[in-house]
Amino acid sequence: MIDSMKDAIRILLLGPPGSGKGTQAAMLSEKFGIPHISAGDLLREEVAKKSATGRNVEAMMNAGKLIPSEIVTEMVRQRLSKNDCSRGFILDGFPRNTEQREMLGVKFDVAVSLELEDTLAIARLSGRRQCLDCGKIYSGDAAECECGGKLYQRKDDKPAAMRERLKIFHRDTRPLIDFYRKEGTLKTVDASKGVDIVFAAICRSIQ
Ligand code: ADP
Repeated sequence: MIDSMKDAIRILLLGPPGSGKGTQAAMLSEKFGIPHISAGDLLREEVAKKSATGRNVEAMMNAGKLIPSEIVTEMVRQRLSKNDCSRGFILDGFPRNTEQREMLGVKFDVAVSLELEDTLAIARLSGRRQCLDCGKIYSGDAAECECGGKLYQRKDDKPAAMRERLKIFHRDTRPLIDFYRKEGTLKTVDASKGVDIVFAAICRSIQ
């Protein structure tokens, strides 16, 4: 399907926090030449810019709560209307619940669910560090990013916020996975394996 690239390909990545959506979406974006759109990144940019929206959502994000759907849907909708999405996109972190799916109203060609147990998700998030400058994600104990930027721990990767995000995933996002399964667009991938193995499995599942 994706080889021909004659038509736009709209890929949705689903999975609990820590399942590697961001990492895999960046790799898919490079391989297929379509943009990676992350709802979390769009929101974090607003926070970093200290815009009205950013100031409004910062505390909710730090606590691991979901941002009101109207705000996120509008942000994602605007991003999807840009020219670079005309050949498709990889959407990560949106929609996260049935309300958002209905509000966006986009039909995906494939929805990939990255499957990961909570214990592993917690272990990964506890050790995750991100570059303040370029956003690259590290899981080991590197002190500095390869770009020279400083590494930091996201506030929502602290234990209480992490538990909240997992709870929301099971309660609100799982029903979406069932929806795409019934629709016939769902592919599931074991996300507990290494980055390259998971990437190969995703590529197989969408071809
Ligand atoms: P993760 O998938 O690991 O939880 P993200 O970077 O995708 O991380 O999201 C971080 C935070 O951004 C979420 O905990 C939530 O506060 C906010 N957020 C991201 N996507 C959405 C969304 N679709 N609806 C509401 N809030 C969102």
